[in-house]
Amino acid sequence: MTEKKQEEKEKTAAELLEEKLLMKQESGAKTLDPAEIEKADEFCEGYKSFLDRAKTERDAVRFTIEAAEAAGFTEYDYHKSYQPGDKVYVNNRGKAVMLCVMGTNGTHNGVRLGIAHIDSPRLDLKPNPLYESNDLALFRTHYYGGIKKYQWPTVPLALHGVVARKDGQVVDVCLGDEEGDPCFVVTDLLPHLAVEQMSKVMTKAFTGEQLNVLIGSRPFRLDEESKSVKLNVMNLLYEKYGFTQEDFVSAELTMVPAGKARDVGFDRSMIGAYGHDDKVCAYPALMAILDTPLPESTVITVLTDREEIGSDGATGMKSTFMADFIADLAKADGEELRHVMAKTTCLSADVNAAFDPTYASAFEADNSCYLNRGAVITKYTGSGGKYSTSDATAEYMARVRRILDDRNVLWQTGELGKVDGGGGGTIAKFVANLNADVVDLGVPVLCMHAPFEIVSKIDVYETYLALAAFYQA
Ligand code: MN
Ligand code: MN
Repeated sequence: MTEKKQEEKEKTAAELLEEKLLMKQESGAKTLDPAEIEKADEFCEGYKSFLDRAKTERDAVRFTIEAAEAAGFTEYDYHKSYQPGDKVYVNNRGKAVMLCVMGTNGTHNGVRLGIAHIDSPRLDLKPNPLYESNDLALFRTHYYGGIKKYQWPTVPLALHGVVARKDGQVVDVCLGDEEGDPCFVVTDLLPHLAVEQMSKVMTKAFTGEQLNVLIGSRPFRLDEESKSVKLNVMNLLYEKYGFTQEDFVSAELTMVPAGKARDVGFDRSMIGAYGHDDKVCAYPALMAILDTPLPESTVITVLTDREEIGSDGATGMKSTFMADFIADLAKADGEELRHVMAKTTCLSADVNAAFDPTYASAFEADNSCYLNRGAVITKYTGSGGKYSTSDATAEYMARVRRILDDRNVLWQTGELGKVDGGGGGTIAKFVANLNADVVDLGVPVLCMHAPFEIVSKIDVYETYLALAAFYQA
């Protein structure tokens, strides 16, 4: 054996040891079979049309129920009795929805939960939004969720939501997303006159009261009405939707970024869109349950509202709606909710912040998630020293790893940025507080909470595979 060959042999031994002992963290774009990447691209075509239709929680619930009914799900009725294999959905006020496939073993060994949220940061209209100033008509807004306010001016916006009239009729409003629709916009100051604005710190440069949306500029011409641009806008709204200014009081109208999801990059490997957080996990959780064959333990996908504003309210995860439904299922099986919950396992499907080389100092590279490395398992979230988070047990983490590895799902692990960098939470803790095992699993996102967020197609697909594996394990 020559000296050179000996060197090669030693290197092989090191490689073998490395393979045995060290964690692999490689891009799925390098390691995945091209056929699987093709499947990911195909899966994401469906995801993009979901994004285009589901900008708000109400839009997402409508899409979900249509898809569920097409797949044989029926609306749950607590008076009825159900058999293994039955598929039901629960619609909570058109703003949150649960899909359930009854297992052969029902709830006796707990249920398998996949939970995601379908609300995203945006600009809600105030209860009295319409005003006129200097011959322009505008809507006043109250932002919803954590936004960087400077990102929202000069972005084309669409109006989504409902107006509930006093006579009980609920009018759907959706304007700005279709070809040929007008859009709306928050204005910004030209740089020539922005000397004072540009010297402000970013948190002060844009205030909530400045996020006013431009909606019209031509007056109602038939008489000398002083608020005539406002009147003209109200008249157009009345003609199209049949509601008056006072009806804004009983409306849920919101401004969201207009336009459709786009492929990003020369290689089309990424998707740019509004609302990936958390539609990018909601869609895989929906598809995973639609594709679930008869499971052993009952499987439930929960798509919830209000995560971006703390999960309070009847349609958020602090509400009892999910536990009440599981209590019904438990009762039908002769079980108590508390015994079912103690054996329940859950994937809280939410996004994490992908490592961004342009802002590398915000991340700790060894404990960050990366685009194209697959679904990210986030053991805990929170801030200020693991404050306000459920932290998955070591045993449950091991179980989830085993499930994913058994099905060859590409996964990674990561925290949300640097320890003292800030932080954030998910809905995991609300389920964990019911005495269930929960861990976060989802898709890495660049520019999270911006009007245009970025994800990798491979990661979206692997998150679907992860949820499907979890439901079928
Ligand atoms: Mn989220
Ligand atoms: Mn969020």
